[in-house]
Amino acid sequence: MDIMIPLGGGNEIGASAYLYMVGGKKILIDFGIRFDQRYPYPEPEFLKTLAPQLDAIILTHAHIDHCGAFHIASALYPDTPVYTTFETAELLSVMVEDAIKVRYIGKEESASNEYKLFDEAFLRIERKRFFSPINIGGVEITLYPAGHILGAAAVLLKWDEKVLFHTGDISLKDQITVKGAVLPEERVNFLVMESTYYYKKLEKEPEEKLEESIKRILERRGKILIPVFALGRAQEIISLIKNGIKKGTIPPVNVYVDGLAREICNIYEHNIDREFFNFFIQPAPGYEGLSFEEACEENIREADIIISTSGMLMENTPSYIYAKIIGKKEKNGIIFSGYLSEESFGYRLIKNRKQFKQFKCEILKHHISAHSKREELEKIKNTLNPEKLILIHGYPGKNSREHASNREVVHL
Ligand SMILES: [Zn+2]
Ligand SMILES: [Zn+2]
Repeated sequence: MDIMIPLGGGNEIGASAYLYMVGGKKILIDFGIRFDQRYPYPEPEFLKTLAPQLDAIILTHAHIDHCGAFHIASALYPDTPVYTTFETAELLSVMVEDAIKVRYIGKEESASNEYKLFDEAFLRIERKRFFSPINIGGVEITLYPAGHILGAAAVLLKWDEKVLFHTGDISLKDQITVKGAVLPEERVNFLVMESTYYYKKLEKEPEEKLEESIKRILERRGKILIPVFALGRAQEIISLIKNGIKKGTIPPVNVYVDGLAREICNIYEHNIDREFFNFFIQPAPGYEGLSFEEACEENIREADIIISTSGMLMENTPSYIYAKIIGKKEKNGIIFSGYLSEESFGYRLIKNRKQFKQFKCEILKHHISAHSKREELEKIKNTLNPEKLILIHGYPGKNSREHASNREVVHL
């Protein structure tokens, strides 16, 4: 009997973790975390009950909703290899350590055990190139480029003449920093596909709208904060602004990049053979003798655009501190660039604008996405033409027979 069970990331976005029992082997794809601090993990005990032994752990990419708790799963299976791409291995060491740091704010002394689990798990990672099959006795695993962000992989599983394609987070179209996904050419029986934007309508041409908003605010001599997700979105937006300045659609201005985004830019830069970021990243903050807040003020004086994490303006992150300063003046602007969870300050700021009188600036949202839109997801489905479609990683509407829920057993 071949099955798949979502332990998290089924009918939700967050805590992605999918257990496959196929061809007599047990394979875990991803083990991420949720933004909801009360239930951060995809049930490690339940995983251990379902699978006393595991043959492989695969990480599709370095967003923490896919890999943020992989060390917790890996600790349960110390002999099981963890497969991922070279780029993801490099990115996840920064991303997961940061996620641990954030989780233990205020209780730093209890974080050491989790750092230890992470260090041990990191040593179990086997780095793989795209298109080079891994054989685990009867099941063949191959990583395919998924677009989305640097290093992101989709997974092709083959066993007993069956073929399954697990998309992970996937972007079919090219972005500035990463090329679009490559789909397998062979016949696929089962397609397990993310559905972030399968059920939603998106703003048309958000890139152009972002450029227009930036230009408008700059022309009235306002300063701009763009809160960004550190990995993927930040690098795309920086590249977009850089291209805009080159084309003349955005005036030549100073752009500062701060927070975790800076570290991730450095990793992108040496993995992508193009000079994307040097022009913009400034060695700030860190002015001697200044508090973090004073350094931010100093940066805002010098820069016209600040790009900083967190993307959702979570309290006490650099972007939150910048927002408080930028928000004071009417001519300034804060432009959100992606998803805002209901727990975030950014969400509350947009929803209940009037409650935050100290924010006098313009507040906008342009959704720059690294996921396939509905039409692209349909194109993936039509190209692969599977016998069975299983949707995951989304919030299904009422009539979605194809969507798998957490803890549901999906027969393959
Ligand atoms: Zn992702
Ligand atoms: Zn995701």
